[in-house]
Amino acid sequence: MPFRLPSARINWTNSSFLIGVAVATCTAVPFYLWHYGIDGFQVALFLAFFSATGLSITLGYHRLLAHMTFHARWPVRLFTLLFGAAAFENAALNWVSDHRRHHKNVDSDNDPYDITKGFWHAHIGWILFKLEPEPPLDNVSDLRKDRLVMLQERFYVPVAVGVGFVLPALLGWLHAGWPGALGGFLLAGVARVTAVQHMTFFINSLCHTIGRQPYSDKCSARDSWIMALFTFGEGYHNYHHEFQHDYRNGVKWWQWDPTKWSIWVLEKIRLVRGLRRVPEEKVLLSQLADTRRRLNERLAIGKTELNARLRELLQSSDAKLRELGDRWTALKTSYADRAEALKAEYSERAGQQVDDARTALAEIRREVRQALNLLEMAGAPA
Ligand SMILES: [Zn+2]
Ligand SMILES: [Zn+2]
Repeated sequence: MPFRLPSARINWTNSSFLIGVAVATCTAVPFYLWHYGIDGFQVALFLAFFSATGLSITLGYHRLLAHMTFHARWPVRLFTLLFGAAAFENAALNWVSDHRRHHKNVDSDNDPYDITKGFWHAHIGWILFKLEPEPPLDNVSDLRKDRLVMLQERFYVPVAVGVGFVLPALLGWLHAGWPGALGGFLLAGVARVTAVQHMTFFINSLCHTIGRQPYSDKCSARDSWIMALFTFGEGYHNYHHEFQHDYRNGVKWWQWDPTKWSIWVLEKIRLVRGLRRVPEEKVLLSQLADTRRRLNERLAIGKTELNARLRELLQSSDAKLRELGDRWTALKTSYADRAEALKAEYSERAGQQVDDARTALAEIRREVRQALNLLEMAGAPA
């Protein structure tokens, strides 16, 4: 059957803009570079606008407005709404509504960027074609009470064009006259919009396709440090879907997550507060449960495919993990009791017990890590 474009469903505004900026990035931008070259100012302007608009999406639209993982004072909210608009990914109200539906209905028909409909649908197809009927904005009543969000909604187009294209052109003009203005418009404007847009789109497409699932296989979301490198840390998407109210996506201190570091710095200078973190043991328990699930999957494979030695290894790992899980739960209860006791009446003995519990927790953590390594070495699927 010949391919027929569903022309009635094409979202002409979105499609013309998205394709327009991508085509200009591949034609007008290289032509400008060939004709005028590039100087340090234009590079810095591109990087500044790339970071400001990219972080406004990940820190502002995503972690602040969609998931409320911290509270922010008005300067942070204003900045992220201004530069978030300049990313040309819709007003915050619509963006957040789509994203909350994504989390609630992931991998199903009601997920706006449902990966089961294919890579291109999740990446860009869902923006190029209209949904029928248009879903109602019935999951953002909290944001409707936010005056700044509603102002951004009202003046979205002038703000987006003003901050996204006019401002870099103006700065370029101040630096080097008309060629500078054209450079600012094309590099920190057009090329930067394309880069930030596809960076965000990759979170919906590649982050549901490549990488590992260390926390859960309940949905298609995956953790990938490569994706984290160019998505301001959003590449740890498996963790994010499992614990969406944590302000971090890369939960380990060493995981590349510039968004979480920016939130942390903003907290230090008192512009944000109330950072939400999932307790460490909850994260570890989830990893533990997922590791056991993967182990059991391996053990379920017919005897002929697994040699006896590997089978034995996996079985002993599973037993160890089960025991660790039980010990952990018991320890948590007694730790909570003792912490309560400490509050009521401090005694040296209670203090000692709490210290013992802490040491045991650290030990279990080490053992779990060893079991995880053992599993990796046994070649179980990630
Ligand atoms: Zn999210
Ligand atoms: Zn997702």
